[in-house]
Amino acid sequence: MAEFKCFDCGKTVKTGEKFTFTKKGSVHFECFISQRRKEVSPEKQETLRSLTVLLDKELQHLISVLDMRDVPESLKETLRVKYKDIEKACGETTRLISDL
Ligand SMILES: [Zn+2]
Repeated sequence: MAEFKCFDCGKTVKTGEKFTFTKKGSVHFECFISQRRKEVSPEKQETLRSLTVLLDKELQHLISVLDMRDVPESLKETLRVKYKDIEKACGETTRLISDL
């Protein structure tokens, strides 16, 4: 996996760590959420909480698929497509959180 640097804490994102991409760049899931918690208005905090749970699960799913080993050659393309789909879902949820 390519190396990314978190724009919030400045540390390199390690393989297996949850991270996402925003307009500002790559960011750890935890850094992104704690930043948004401070910025989002009180009446939208509940929405933020639910979207956080959703993104957490989606990112976990992404990591799980990435972690699959010993995949038959015939399945690799299918897995790649699925990975892209989950990645897209993560991107959409990230955007919803960014726009709150
Ligand atoms: Zn970070």
